[in-house]
Amino acid sequence: METILVVNAGSSSLKFQVFAISGSQDLDCLVRGQIDGVGMRPRLRAAAGDGAALIDKAFESNEIPDLEAAIFEAGAWLRETQKVDLVAVGHRVVHGGPDFVNPVRVDRDIIARLRRYISLAPLHQPHNLAPMRALLERRPGLPQVACFDTSFHRGHGALADHYALPLRFYEEGVRRYGFHGLSYEYVAERLRQIAPAVANGRVIVAHLGSGASMCAIAGGRSVESTLGFTALDGLPMGTRPGQIDPGVVLYLIMEKGMSPGAVQDMLYRECGLKGLSGVSNDVRELEASADPKAVFALDYFAYRVGLNAGMLAAAMGGLDGFVFTAGIGENSPTMRARIVQRLAWLGITLDAEANRERRTVISASESRVPVYVVPTNEELMIARHTLETLSKQDAFCSTKEKTAD
Ligand code: AMP
Repeated sequence: METILVVNAGSSSLKFQVFAISGSQDLDCLVRGQIDGVGMRPRLRAAAGDGAALIDKAFESNEIPDLEAAIFEAGAWLRETQKVDLVAVGHRVVHGGPDFVNPVRVDRDIIARLRRYISLAPLHQPHNLAPMRALLERRPGLPQVACFDTSFHRGHGALADHYALPLRFYEEGVRRYGFHGLSYEYVAERLRQIAPAVANGRVIVAHLGSGASMCAIAGGRSVESTLGFTALDGLPMGTRPGQIDPGVVLYLIMEKGMSPGAVQDMLYRECGLKGLSGVSNDVRELEASADPKAVFALDYFAYRVGLNAGMLAAAMGGLDGFVFTAGIGENSPTMRARIVQRLAWLGITLDAEANRERRTVISASESRVPVYVVPTNEELMIARHTLETLSKQDAFCSTKEKTAD
């Protein structure tokens, strides 16, 4: 069976999924897995599409020292034990900069251009590109497609896309890009199936995971995002502060003598829920903690989601639907309830039982705006884009035969 491999590479982990291309061009997830602890205590875990465990294997650190080794280890395991016939690879790439509006077939030139955006997403971009480059060198005939977290937001109007800086910086690429676009695109498509009239209207989607943002989607298109130039803006996240006065950064550098690198490290790794609570970056642990600082961090998170919802509703001139998605949004009824309390002024009320049971619609019947929980699936979106991008290229059909292994 012909399959597409979807790769989502982080700093020390490589997540992957394999999708079968069936005759009707539907995509079914066959395997999902990850290699964690790359270079430290590597461990390969994978399960079948139905959740049945397939492997849980620990490695020595030198057996999988980097992401390049991780992609080959995952590939070898898939080939040898799962008999996967790989015809293409789709990669999640956090930053497409000002140039990349659509997914793109990867070659050397594309990788060189994407490397320019490393400084815009230092925690993600280099890791996203590492397995891509390794595969291009070792398997040049295997088609690869880069799918960007920024693409869905590239249609923003000029007002949403600018900072009030001298215009030359905009020309250089200092723009409000927005991220989590693959997730928003998937959720917008799902909402069209669940509630077509709402999906055609003005919707806020809250992607609340270890990275968190919100997107204003009008008529199915992103019009505003809480994230901007980098993935630091907007909502507080697991370890990132969200919106912050740039004067604080100046203070840290000029008054506290912190180096720019140390400030960057702190902003990406030590802030957000972790920094506020001093307990954890994980909402599960915060919800289980009796520490008042943990409770404060959760309240703070809900407060900022509420503030940003007001901003996004203003961007659209109203609100017809609100959607929760990603790790916290899909799995924490308590956090959803805290947030909906903050949205009461919009006429939004919750059905407590529907919320507890994580039904698709969790608002009360009298709620002026319906509220949904829609599980995201960025990997499926990447697989679809990969197939679409390659299907547009005549060469793909003949390549499929050549690269099958
Ligand atoms: P993501 O980045 O979308 O995978 O989301 C990861 C985050 O979701 C974790 O760090 C947790 O904070 C949160 N999360 C996952 N499961 C739960 C749960 N059952 N209850 C509360 N939070 C959860």
